[in-house]
This record gives sequence, structure tokens and C-alpha cells, in this order.
Amino acid sequence: MSTINWMDEVEKRKEYLIKDAQGLLHIKSLLDEENTSIDAPLGKGVKEALDYMLLLGEKDGFTPKNVGNLAGHLEFGTGEELLGILCHVDVVPEGDGWTSDPFGAEIRDGKIFARGALDDKGPTMAAYYAMKIVKELGLPLKKRVRMIIGTDEESNWRCVEHYFQHEEMPTLGFAPDADFPIINAEKGIADIDMVQKESVQNKEAANVEVVSFASGKRYNMVPDYAKSSVHVKDNQEEMVQQFTNFMKQYELEHGHHVETGELILEVKGVSAHGMEPKNGKNAGLFLAEFLSKQSLDAKAAAYFQFASRYFFDDSRGVNLGIAYEDDISGELTINPGKLSYSKESGGRIGMTCRYPVTNKMENTKAKLDALLETEGFTIENFSDSKPHHVDEKEFLIQTLKKVYEEQTGEKAELLAIGGGTYARSLKAGVAFGPLFPGRPDIAHQKDEYMYIEDLLKATAIYAQAIFELAKSE
Ligand SMILES: [Zn+2]
Repeated sequence: MSTINWMDEVEKRKEYLIKDAQGLLHIKSLLDEENTSIDAPLGKGVKEALDYMLLLGEKDGFTPKNVGNLAGHLEFGTGEELLGILCHVDVVPEGDGWTSDPFGAEIRDGKIFARGALDDKGPTMAAYYAMKIVKELGLPLKKRVRMIIGTDEESNWRCVEHYFQHEEMPTLGFAPDADFPIINAEKGIADIDMVQKESVQNKEAANVEVVSFASGKRYNMVPDYAKSSVHVKDNQEEMVQQFTNFMKQYELEHGHHVETGELILEVKGVSAHGMEPKNGKNAGLFLAEFLSKQSLDAKAAAYFQFASRYFFDDSRGVNLGIAYEDDISGELTINPGKLSYSKESGGRIGMTCRYPVTNKMENTKAKLDALLETEGFTIENFSDSKPHHVDEKEFLIQTLKKVYEEQTGEKAELLAIGGGTYARSLKAGVAFGPLFPGRPDIAHQKDEYMYIEDLLKATAIYAQAIFELAKSE
């Protein structure tokens, strides 16, 4: 029907869009659990950012609602069905080394610099203006349109959890909190702690006693550092030489020294996101592999050989017997991001398993349980966030593809990722922008920025998307 020039509509409002984005970016909306109150359960900063959006929307004629001071929404239009746009106004701590004030929202070289510029306050304002444009044009819609604003995305998602306990789930929607074009498949995320059982007998025949061993603190990071403290009965120098040779062979930085009678071994690896362990070098696994070849007591041998046999040089779960792959989302991956052993309490491996959308975690877990049983290990903590997938044939995907292609002239490839985006809290929702292909992802880093040009382009895309998804035929 229409020949609306969405970019023109954005240009007309450009000045206000930037000013309102800066206003939102000035707010230090960090989680602050030390200073909470009933009306600010996650701290004053995030609440102020939520209020800022609700007030802005109210002034512009949207219906605002505060939901438990953890989330809120702005709505317009009528109709049975609900289109949801999911955003968040909390940010990660600013960190050090900024060129300008991280909450100054300074504009330089066509970019707006601030913590949250890209993740997710810039896109939040883009989506807000998109909604405002559709509303101001008075276009005929058959769905209600609602922007849902969360305040805890960067930490524990208590915002959306609370919100959807009390409020309606949109029929369909998108979250401007990741990448363009469209992420329609997100792998499942299972975090699993495997713990060595007590029953292993300790014999004292070994040459090397591992006093302690530790590497990594997070499931979703490839650990870049590992340290072990050992007692060597005989030929310590020879063992140190083997250690040096082993680490050199893999081109890993390493070191050793003696501290209060114990030999300390240290290894430096390469950190990477745990959803693709091949991008890093797991320092803990290299050190474990080396130790597994030493003459160890039974308990240590059981732990280090377990780590060696099932995890070293295998990020696909082949040795564990849980490898899986599908066309939509690729291979299952495992990242043992937390490894530890002590002679008193035995060993643990904490891993994140990113599994394809057609993979049943129940089956994978049953296989794992059976294997661990025979290896003297047991699962202690297990959490599972199910995979998220919206089929390419769905109206939502077809519409967003069309809009993206019209607005950018580029093909809208569908993306599958191993990480989780905010979109997975929607029943039928996908991540849609704001980062354009080829742009560096500087979210969570110092000097975070968003190109003004991208902010405007995203606004035009979101406006057309809202209209096409909600319009009456
Ligand atoms: Zn985000």
C-alpha cells in the first residue's frame, strides 16, 4: 500500500532522537544490590533509567506500565494480538581507560560514545522512535505494539522473569540486542559441574603428589591461566624439563618456581568465549594433560586422566559420546571453563555445553550420567536453558527479512549462534540488530560507541518492521 520513506521520517526526528538517547545514556544504570529500596530493588540507577523511558513514553501518548520496578512497558494500538519489542536499560560497569566520560555520551567522528551506546540503550531509543514514528503516522494496525523494558539483562534476567509472570507474552516480537540481520537460532545452554566421588582409594606409591590445581572461574570462558602446586619425590629437575618441553611444543607461555618446598607450575593460555572453545587455548586442559602423564596417586590419576581422555583436544564431546550436529545450528560444543583439584577434596570440572536446537538435552544428560558413573564422577549442579529457534518459514522471519533487505539492499542471512540473546525470553521472538555486519562488536568494552548513521538506519528498519508486523491487510 504505502510508499512511506522511513528514513525521511527518521531524519525529521533525528535531533530529538539523539538528545533523548543522550539523556538515557547519562544515567549510570548499573546493578547496585548494596543500595536497594522497595521501589528500586536493583538499585537507583537502573530504576532511574526505567522511569526515564516510561516518562518519555507517557509524554508522547503511549500507555506506560511499571511492572514491579524491575521492568515496564509502553504500549499503543488496539487488537487482540500483541507485538513485543524487548529492550534493556541496564549496563555493565564502565571499566577503565575511556577517552571521554563513559556516561557523557559525547559525539565524535559520527559516533556516540557511552557505556550502553550499543548495548542496549542506543538501540532501545532507536526502537522507541520507531514505535513513535508508526504511531505518529497514524497507520492502520491490527495488533497492539508494546516495548518491554528490562533492567537486569546484564546480570540475572530477574526483569523478564518477573515481567512474564505478571504480564502477557507477545504473540511475536524481536529484541534489538544483538546482531543484524536476524538471529533465529540459539543453541541450548547447559552448565554442568562434574565432581569426583569420594570412593577413590589413595595409595602412596606415586612420584608426584598434586597438592592443588586450578584453572578458570566461568563456564562460558576458555581459561587463560592455570596453576598447580606439586610435591615431587625424585628427579624434580627432569619433571620440570618435561613440563617445559611439553608447553613449548604447544607454544604456550609457562613458568615454574619453588615456594615453601612445593613446585609451582603455571601455564598461560588464550581466553575466548566458551561457545567456541577452538578460538582459545584452555590453559587448564594443557596443564591437566601434562600432569596426567606423571606418576600420580590413584585419586589424582583418576582426575587428570579423566580430564585428558574426555576433554583434551576435544571441544565437540566426541570422547564423552555426546557429539551432535544439525543443519540449523551446527555442532554441540563443550567448554570446561572451571577446573580444580586438591588432594583433600578431589577434582571438579565445570563446563558449559552449547547444544543444537534439535538436540534433546535429556538424552545427552542420560549418556553423560552413565559415563560419569563408570569414571567415578557425578553431576552436582545442572542448569539448562533450552534452545531457541523460530522457523524460517514463519511470518515473523519472512517479514523481518523483507524489511531488512528493502532498507539495506543487502541479503538478510539468518544467523545461528552458540550464545544466548535476550530474544530467548520471548516465546516467538528473534534477535534483530542493532550491530550491522562488518561493524566491530565493542559492547562491554571501553569506548563503547554506536555510529549515528547506524542508529538512524536501525530506527528506520525497526519502524518499517513494526508497521509490517502489526499492519492490517
Ligand atoms: Zn544487551
